[in-house]
Amino acid sequence: MLYDVVIIGAGASGLTTGLYTARAGLKTLILERGLYGGQIQTTAEIENYSGFEEIISGEDLSEQMYNQAISQGVEYTYGDVQHVLKEDDGTFTILLIGKDSIKAKSVVIATGVERRMLEVDGESKLLGRGVAYCAICDGAFFKGKDVIVVGGGDSALEESVYLSQIVNSVTLIHRADKFNGQKVLQNRVMNNPKITTIMNTEVISIHGDKKVEKVTLLNNKENVLSSMHIDGVFIYIGSDANTNMFKEFVKLDENGFIITDENMMTSVEGIFAVGDVRSKNVRQIATAVGDGAIAGVNIGRYLEEIK
Ligand code: NAP
Repeated sequence: MLYDVVIIGAGASGLTTGLYTARAGLKTLILERGLYGGQIQTTAEIENYSGFEEIISGEDLSEQMYNQAISQGVEYTYGDVQHVLKEDDGTFTILLIGKDSIKAKSVVIATGVERRMLEVDGESKLLGRGVAYCAICDGAFFKGKDVIVVGGGDSALEESVYLSQIVNSVTLIHRADKFNGQKVLQNRVMNNPKITTIMNTEVISIHGDKKVEKVTLLNNKENVLSSMHIDGVFIYIGSDANTNMFKEFVKLDENGFIITDENMMTSVEGIFAVGDVRSKNVRQIATAVGDGAIAGVNIGRYLEEIK
């Protein structure tokens, strides 16, 4: 079986690419190793995606995007991609872990990003025992407790507000003297009586025997150490591109994100990249969807050209 398009990843960008290519009559398969929706699935409430005046949950938006793509003829299956090979005839072989390989005329990398770890003592040991990276997945375990959130971007700000609805208190700890997330989110944090912010401060270790009990903090301006008793540590310090299996294959920028042209084509003809995995400076659902639409249209043109 030779697919016209195989899309690796079923987040907003992958599902939108599939929607467009399937509607264009191209035989399209989406491979996903987790749950469709990608990062949207772990976002509690979405309020800046155009067209939804009422707040929509990430879970509902994921479901709607998935159903729409499937209704247009996209095939969808579990697949953990190990590698992609370009054959002499210009087609691609997608090698999967534990499954038969798949052949395609074009490939779309929509593998998104993976949350960064703090890499401090105690983090790995207490993972799932107070250390968490997803408020919507794990927030409920901290009902009525005191937690810290680490980071200063949109995710840290947004998830602090989400957690404040569940926990007793949130302390948002940022290593710089200014947050870099959106002003509207900063205001929401500042006006929330359950959230305290601590700036110029780094978490340098996490302590606890069976679960998180306290953290050691370093005020990097005063160079002063302190400790704080706490029940949970939510880490939102950015993400790294999921490009490990492609890094020898397509051109990456200095931060490991995939470089594309304006048609979403990578340095390898026939391989496209969309969404957060792509080198760009605005990462939103809207931009992921935009990438998917652009790639979807241009894949059709590319396949016509190579006919
Ligand atoms: P981000 O924007 O890269 O922010 C990462 C934050 O973590 C920065 O404040 C950074 O501080 C801090 N940080 C990085 N490494 C650290 C370390 N080792 N220790 C302590 N702090 C560290 O990541 P993000 O917040 O996950 O957002 C990712 C993308 O998704 C962004 O483009 C964002 O706009 C988008 N997003 C949008 C929304 C929305 O529109 N509602 C929601 C969530 C995410 P420094 O500045 O000091 O490096």
